[in-house]
Formats: sequence, C-alpha cells, structure tokens
Amino acid sequence: MPALQRPPKRRNTFIYLIIVALIAAALAMMFNSGQQATTEISLNTFVEKAQSGEIHKVEVSDNRINIELVDGSKLYTFKEVGSSIYEILEKSGADEDVILALPITIVDTESGKFWTDLLIGIVPFLLIIAFFVFMMRSAQSSNNQAMSFGKSKAKVYDKGKQKTTFDDVAGCEEAKDELEEIVDFLKKPQKYTSIGAKIPKGVMLVGAPGTGKTLLARAIAGEADVPFFSISGSEFVEMFVGVGASRVRDLFTRAKRNAPCIIFVDEIDAVGRHRGAGMGGGHDEREQTLNQILTEMDGFETGTNVIVIAATNRPDILDPALLRPGRFDRRVVVDMPDSKAREGILKVHTRNKPLAKTVNLDKIARSTPGFTGADIENLANEAAILTAKHNKKTIGMKELEKSIEKVVMGPERKSRVLSKKEKKITAYHEIGHAVVGHMLPNCDPVHKVSVISRGMALGVTWFLPEEDKHLTSKSKFEDEICSLLGGYTSEQVFFGEMTTGASNDLQRATKLAHNMVTKFGMSDLGPIIFGNPNDEVFLGKDFGHVKNYSEESASKIDLLVKRILDKSHKRTEEIIKKNKKLIDTIATDLIKKETLTGEEFKKYFKNTKVPKKTKT
Ligand code: ADP
Ligand code: MG
Ligand code: ZN
Repeated sequence: MPALQRPPKRRNTFIYLIIVALIAAALAMMFNSGQQATTEISLNTFVEKAQSGEIHKVEVSDNRINIELVDGSKLYTFKEVGSSIYEILEKSGADEDVILALPITIVDTESGKFWTDLLIGIVPFLLIIAFFVFMMRSAQSSNNQAMSFGKSKAKVYDKGKQKTTFDDVAGCEEAKDELEEIVDFLKKPQKYTSIGAKIPKGVMLVGAPGTGKTLLARAIAGEADVPFFSISGSEFVEMFVGVGASRVRDLFTRAKRNAPCIIFVDEIDAVGRHRGAGMGGGHDEREQTLNQILTEMDGFETGTNVIVIAATNRPDILDPALLRPGRFDRRVVVDMPDSKAREGILKVHTRNKPLAKTVNLDKIARSTPGFTGADIENLANEAAILTAKHNKKTIGMKELEKSIEKVVMGPERKSRVLSKKEKKITAYHEIGHAVVGHMLPNCDPVHKVSVISRGMALGVTWFLPEEDKHLTSKSKFEDEICSLLGGYTSEQVFFGEMTTGASNDLQRATKLAHNMVTKFGMSDLGPIIFGNPNDEVFLGKDFGHVKNYSEESASKIDLLVKRILDKSHKRTEEIIKKNKKLIDTIATDLIKKETLTGEEFKKYFKNTKVPKKTKT
C-alpha cells in the first residue's frame, strides 16, 4: 500500500461526533420552544383574570402569552401576530389602571431566532455533506484504486530520503560494475551523446529471488541521485481490466517530466511473458500492457534521460520482443552469492548490530551455502532476536549458528512429543542417512544429526559442503541418491518394514534419478534431453503438449530411472548391513542426546575405514 493512505478510522469517528452533536442541538431547540406552560386558556379568560387581579406575572414571547397566577399555576394563550398585548387588553375593555399594574415582560425572541433559523437552515446541508464525505471515504478506503484506476501507482523514492548506495550491496561485483556505467549515463549524458553513443533505454536484472535485484536498482538511483519510480509488474494488472496500458502511459509521462530518472519495473514476468501464450485469447490484459511498455520505450526521443530497469527471476518466459536491442538489451545477471559475497552481505547486515568479539563471519558464510542475500538478512535478524530474547548485549557465534539452523530447517518443535518407538525409528533413519553419506566419497560431510522435530520433519541429517560447488558429477548424484535412500534402507534392515517417514526422501531420490536420465544425459540413453528444458508448465504455452518425446522413450526413461534407484538401493543396503553395529551404537546415543554435531559423529569412525572425500 502506498504511504499516502492514512487510516481513515479517526476521521470517521470525528464525523460521527459532529452528526450526533447536530442532531442533539436540533432536538434541544425543538423542545425548548415547547416550554413548561401547562394549560391553554382563551384570551377572554386571560382578560378576566387580569381584571380580577389573579395574575402574578405575564411574559410575552412572540405571539405567545405565558401567564403565572398568584397561586403559582401556569397558563398560556396566544394573541394575533403583530398585535400588541396592550391593544388587546384595551380593546377587550380592561381598565387602564389594571393594564398598567400588570407585570408584563416582553421576551426578545428576534435575536435568538436568527441563530435558530440559521441552524435549522444549515443542519440538513451539513448532514448531507457529512454523508457524502463519509461515502467517499469508505469508497476510498475499501479500494483506493476505484478513484484513480488509470493512474500508475508507482512510488517515488526521491533524493533526500534515506538513500541506498552500492555500499549497501555486497557481492555481485560484476553486476555492480555494469550498473556503474548506467549511473554514469544518468549523471553525465553529454559525455556519451557527444561521441554518438546511444544511452541504453532498458536494463534487465536477472537472478533468483532474494539475490538483491530490487536492492541494486535502488542503489543505482541512490548513486546517480535521481528520482526512482518503482512499480511491480503485478500492479499493472489488478482489479480492473484494461487499466494496465493506461497505467503504463501515466507512469512514463510522469517519468519524462522528472527526467533524468529511473523507472523500475519489478517482477516484469507478471506482464512480460510471451505474447499470445495466454489462455484468454489474443486480447489479453497482459499483452496490452506489455505492448504499451514497448511503445513507450520506443517513443523516447533521443536524449530523454529515462532508463527503465526491470527485474525478473524467470527470464526464460519473457517475450523476445522485450529483449531485443533498443529495449531491455542489457542483461545483468545477479548471481547467488558465493562464500566471500555472503561474508560481505553478513557484514552489511550486522553493521548496526553489536557482535561479540568471538564472532567469525567467514565461518558463518562458509556454513551457509545456497543462502541468498535475503536469507542472510533474515539470519542476521533471527540472531539479533535470539540475543535479545536471552537478554544478552552482543550477538555471539551460538546465536548465529542457531539462526542458520532455523533459517534452513525451520524452527524446532519441542512441543511435538514422539513416542519411544517413533523416536527409535527416527534415530535409526537419520543415522542411516548420515552413515551412508559418511561412507561415500562424493557426499558432503555430515554437519549435524538430530531427532528434534522441525517443521514437518521428525528428524534431520544435515550435510554441509566444504565449499561452493558449481558443477555436479554423475558419481556425486549416485552417492547422493544412496544417502537419500539411507533412511529408508535403515528402517528396512533394522525394523523389517518401512514407515511413511521416508516418503520425502524417496521423492527427492526419484527426482534426482529422473533428472540424471532426462536432463543431464547421464544414462544409457545418451546425450539427449527429454521434455522442455524449462520443465515447469506454465499455462498457455505448453498446455496440452508437455511431453515432446514418444511413449517408447517414456517407458525407457522409467526403466532407466528404476535401474538407477535399484542399483543405489543395493549399494546402500550393503553399507548399512556392513555397519550395523556402528549404527546401533550411534543411534542409541542419538536417542539419549537428541543432537550430534559433525565432530561427535566422526568420532565413532575411529576404527573404521572411511573413504576419503573427493574434491571437485
Ligand atoms: P530480489 O532479488 O528478490 O529483488 P531484494 O533486492 O528484494 O531481492 O533483496 C531482499 C533483501 O535481501 C534486500 O532488502 C537486502 O536487505 C537483502 N540482500 C539481498 N542481496 C543483498 C546483497 N547482495 N547485499 C546486501 N543485502 C542483500
Ligand atoms: Mg525484488
Ligand atoms: Zn530421511
């Protein structure tokens, strides 16, 4: 939600109060004119009473005469409008001295009446206005878009506000180098135009979610010190059909007025996927929005200093027209951070957090392979929360390590109680994974084994590579499948039957084997890929023809996958059976201790021959 929208609640109560007050005032006025007089009498009776001297007080207010008798009773009567009470008394034949002796007071109603009239005249208007304001407010708060749906909802990060710079982005050095150029374009366009160079119009940031694409875009704006219009692809297409294109137009108009500036379209895949691929026919909303973006980008006159930066994690599904020269022709890849970059990111996110002297960020970085920048930010935050929870002043190594576990495997669920039998099965299952992994040269070293429930899993075996790996060999896949089958096989060997606990392992093992055959050419079928390289089906493009190979190949694939799994199962079984005694010992200890670290685990193998880990 944009920051402009304030919560309307307070205003509403205020309006209610005004309405209530007005109604109360109006009611009070109505009743006020009713006054307290009780009995109505005729004018003649009034004159008689005046003659007989019964009257104590007479009060004339407009055409109403309030009378108080000597005995205290109150009466009232009316006279004609505009006629004086003295005239009436005279005409009715009352004696002059009686008239003079009557204590008559005339109440000034005119001045009070002015305000009454004013209020009576105004109250309905106020009520009507209040009603409209109320309606508008509720309409706005329920869907702000309704009032301004053609307007782009781009948020502007302007100068002055807390700026993001390249210092806030650790790692991604290549990306930063390339973007440095963009900053220079924005700052000194003449330098480039004077020698005939065209300023790039679009930059596409490509990278996995959480690797810092949005952060980089903001850093460019900060470095170049220009306004930054940010909009998410999905915001183009929401609520009303047909507003996407007009939002694009509005956004670009605003940007051109503010040039030099940056337009940032986050998650452009929401609008930028292959045209004609939608299920809804050719005039699909996204298509129009995309066309409008392309038209606007083509329409920049040379010298318009607006650079469009887009981000996506699905470059494979983007429309080719987006990527052709003159549009998003610059592609900047934002990589997953390696261990050095992770250390840098850790430094950025612990800048304003007190770290204990013993903290070794390098070690933390090395034990977080596969973490993105966002994961690391999360990790640093979890560690800070944990520290505060324990009333400590500085974040220590222990908190950081605990937070890694939490980020990787989800929080511990100590409340889930396992029965003795379940705990035993879980322990043998996990040690099965760990021992098989330990005995195979291509598996990563065991980092931790535990039988404390986390998330959905009853226990965890955590393998941790010693370094970031970019290539995976066939033998590593084979060993990996064995260690995945370790839990299943261990249950089989020790308890004679399997449980549902191995289902996820089997799923992962099967997927690996399947990928070996169909994606990596690691089977007897040879160097061939089956199926679409991007195996995710997205509605439209691949709908209805996912398989691009024959039934014959399909059955061959199934056969080969099964063969890989069978072979691995056999190897796994051998390892488990050979190390039965060892597994017994370790599992018994694990049930007692609940958690074993990598070092503790390795100690059990002092008298066993363990093959050396292969380095890649
Ligand atoms: P995405 O690539 O999905 O757009 P973001 O840019 O939104 O990712 O990153 C999410 C958060 O992760 C950022 O706000 C930032 O705090 C952190 N982050 C990601 N990458 C880095 C990095 N290289 N250096 C510092 N922080 C990072
Ligand atoms: Mg993002
Ligand atoms: Zn398992």
